[in-house]
Amino acid sequence: MNFNCKRNTKGSRVVVKKKKQKAFIKIEDAIKTLIRQKKAVNFSTVSKVAGVSRQQLYSQPFLKNKIETLREQQKASASHTELPQCPKCFSLNVIKNGHRPNGKQGFKCLNCSRQFIVKYEVRGYPLQVKECCLKLHSWGMSLRSIERATGVCHTTILTWVKQVNVSSA
Ligand SMILES: [Zn+2]
Repeated sequence: MNFNCKRNTKGSRVVVKKKKQKAFIKIEDAIKTLIRQKKAVNFSTVSKVAGVSRQQLYSQPFLKNKIETLREQQKASASHTELPQCPKCFSLNVIKNGHRPNGKQGFKCLNCSRQFIVKYEVRGYPLQVKECCLKLHSWGMSLRSIERATGVCHTTILTWVKQVNVSSA
């Protein structure tokens, strides 16, 4: 604000306020649109969709906070869904660990430092069932006991146990 403001008529100040409100609504709409379309919310996408400059976004603490919060939330949820569980100790404390020659994403467990890639099971039991059986096995439960508890054939469980041992070697 400078001294010129004082000379402004009441009318022009109202116009400025309305313009600001319009931009505000446009920005809010842009954020909603990005969330609805499941696109990344950050300063560049919001300014592009809303048709405002980034500077305008930075200048409004409420919007700046909102965008930053959403950006962090998206990052957190993205990394949560992308990162798999460690096949050895079932920890979720896992980081990306480069790519294998075949192009597959490698991962490393920070808990037991096991390196692995994710194998997506297309057929057979759901991944949760497999993980459950392997967990019980890692706790020292016999294959037949696991079979009785989960209904999964003990030879299938043995195959999974072998898979885990092979990919950890
Ligand atoms: Zn681990």
